[in-house]
Amino acid sequence: MTARIAVHGAAGRMGREVVAAVRAHDEATLVAAVDQAGADVIGKDAGLLSGGGTTGVEVTADLASAAAKADVVIDFSLASATPAVADACKRHEVPTVVGTTGFDEQGEAALETLASAVPVVVAPNFSQGVTLLFHLAARAAELLGPGFDAEIVEMHHRRKVDAPSGTAARLGDVVARAKGLEPADSVVHGRSGHVGARPDAQVGVMALRGGDVVGEHTLVLAGEGERVELGHRAGDRGIFARGAVRAALWAVRQRPGRYDMADVMGIPR
Ligand code: NAD
Repeated sequence: MTARIAVHGAAGRMGREVVAAVRAHDEATLVAAVDQAGADVIGKDAGLLSGGGTTGVEVTADLASAAAKADVVIDFSLASATPAVADACKRHEVPTVVGTTGFDEQGEAALETLASAVPVVVAPNFSQGVTLLFHLAARAAELLGPGFDAEIVEMHHRRKVDAPSGTAARLGDVVARAKGLEPADSVVHGRSGHVGARPDAQVGVMALRGGDVVGEHTLVLAGEGERVELGHRAGDRGIFARGAVRAALWAVRQRPGRYDMADVMGIPR
């Protein structure tokens, strides 16, 4: 049996990737593609947005109808749309996968309400590899203990305007906690000047920018006479879409509640 999937934010960079990932998956069928009213893609075939052939599914601005006919909704749109997405999915009792980032308290509250009724998977990063990296990084830092200094290096393309990446910041938090440290007191971003010798209770995060690098993250655990490195290299943004489709197929089999990508992958907490 295949899951009927509706994509919200279908015309965006991620939405197009999700449409392509749904089409490529044997157990998923695209039944609706939604973007905002007035967008020039409304009325066009969703398949054409992702560079494929036609799907017979037109892009509409009708979220309610999309939620009504889907087994699961995948949302990669804008944070201001999150309450409306949560309301529509709750009304139609449809499991929801939320990739949109940056929602406020109102969006957060709407997702909590939704999660009391249906399974909801929320993750700021749906990459399966990055999700695994968080887990392995925490385990490695914990097992190697205080004798190994943790440093994180990330690299992204030259157009990225913020630093460090959200993924590097989260990796810093995860590693600090695994070492028994409070992230706010121990994670340092970049070093410059006469900063003194490196204290034990520190996790360094360094950001490199250049070229067209999609996204690279490396955790270095440096001890006396040996060094362990755990890394992830992203090739394209399809990794988030494929992860979101995996999450959608998982979500339809779950009980109501709020989940993240680690739950989808069966990673122990
Ligand atoms: P984008 O701007 O290219 O696309 C957003 C799309 O949402 C646009 O087509 C826009 O018209 C549509 N949209 C906006 N408001 C809407 C509304 N009210 N109703 C319907 N459609 C609406 O952005 P993007 O690069 O595709 O990113 C989308 C979101 O996904 C962002 O929040 C981004 O941070 C997040 N993101 C998450 C992951 C992850 O793994 N979780 C990965 C990449 C990006």
